[in-house]
Amino acid sequence: MNNREISSRDLNVLWHPCTQMKDHETIPIVPIAKGDGVYLEDFEGNRTIDAISSWWVNLFGHCNPYINAKVIEQLSTLEHVILAGFTHEGIVRLSERLVKLSPEGLTRCFYADNGSSAIEVALKMSYHSHKNKAQERGLFVSLSESYHGETLGALSVGDVALYKETYEPLLIQSLQTPSPKNQSIEAAQEAAKSFEKLLQERGHEIAALIVEPLVQGAGGMKMYHPIFLSETKRLCERYGVHFIADEILVGFGRTGSMFACEQADITPDFLILSKGLTGGYLPLSVVLTTEAVYGSFYCDYNPSRSFLHSHSYTGNALACAAANATLDIFESDDVIKNNRVTMDLIAQELKRFEKFLKVKEVRQCGMIAAIELEGFEPSERIGLKIHQHCMKNGVLIRPLGSVIYVMTPYVITHDELKTVFSAIEKAIESIDI
Ligand SMILES: *Cc1c(COP(=O)(O)O)cnc(C)c1O
Repeated sequence: MNNREISSRDLNVLWHPCTQMKDHETIPIVPIAKGDGVYLEDFEGNRTIDAISSWWVNLFGHCNPYINAKVIEQLSTLEHVILAGFTHEGIVRLSERLVKLSPEGLTRCFYADNGSSAIEVALKMSYHSHKNKAQERGLFVSLSESYHGETLGALSVGDVALYKETYEPLLIQSLQTPSPKNQSIEAAQEAAKSFEKLLQERGHEIAALIVEPLVQGAGGMKMYHPIFLSETKRLCERYGVHFIADEILVGFGRTGSMFACEQADITPDFLILSKGLTGGYLPLSVVLTTEAVYGSFYCDYNPSRSFLHSHSYTGNALACAAANATLDIFESDDVIKNNRVTMDLIAQELKRFEKFLKVKEVRQCGMIAAIELEGFEPSERIGLKIHQHCMKNGVLIRPLGSVIYVMTPYVITHDELKTVFSAIEKAIESIDI
């Protein structure tokens, strides 16, 4: 088997996500034969550093020996069981651990099998919880440039035109409030003020505010100060509005703390986790919520007050085994503390981009780095050019328009990290004047 053969068979039968398939008339599909730590290897032995953690999911490398062993162990006892009326040891242990790790006051875990589905769960739960308390609140508020996934409900509360515009007539009601312009305290306070104005006008109609804490991912790796979270949480409480923290991307150490909400010292009404939850192995997501929300559904059997939501693969046992193994590694390797050294190194590496004319801004939040370019038209597809240039140098990055970002697995060595940033530097040199 070789690269060319797999690629051409692929193009006969597949339709790839987030892709204009005609591009592949000229850009080859990259077939991957195996994964090994931060490396992806094709069928001819060429290795590429996965500097975006395979769409932000991988934490401890591909084919991590410990996680592999734990999934295999689970595979020989139970692969999956229905979660309605049944349970298994892995999911009980995982839920106990998540409740303990997450901000104080989150006591209940509701599972789904991908990020967008978990967003749907939280939106429905929030709306329904208010309804159970005889309040009709049919509006959700999210931030400008937010991204919460691509199923219709999740798309409705997102604000990335590229994904949303076409489907606008199909979407549910939502309002956007400005996100903080930058990482300063002033920008955070200004944005919180705008949200307060919105609450004063329409607070009683609003079910929840949904935010991506500290880093707005797919909207362009925009970053902001934790004070925005504490301010908006306080305002939500005052107006009886739920606070939904979408930590699908930022959870599990991406921003430097286990959960981003910790940096603002808040307990959201809903905390949504997915991507890093299984270390990047298997699809799984969870919505953690409070006893107050749980209690608003708890009563003698009454279909209209029960949360009748389900997915076939909810709480899959293999995925739970991968998640428990991932949490084992966080405990045994003191990951959050050790990542601080890597974070300092990233800060050092980012300095080399300040000299470029076409670099508008360089930013970092924990283990996420972004280099924003300016002066390019969307039609120039500068992100694609940078991607292709880096691929030639053995580094996989996938810019969001003109925002180049690096979000590697935590197990990357310092030499490998240097390789990643050098490849990006060379790519920018090739286009900067
Ligand atoms: C990826 C992502 C989602 C959607 O998760 P999927 O598993 O891709 O459906 C939602 N919110 C945020 C912040 C994300 O980064």
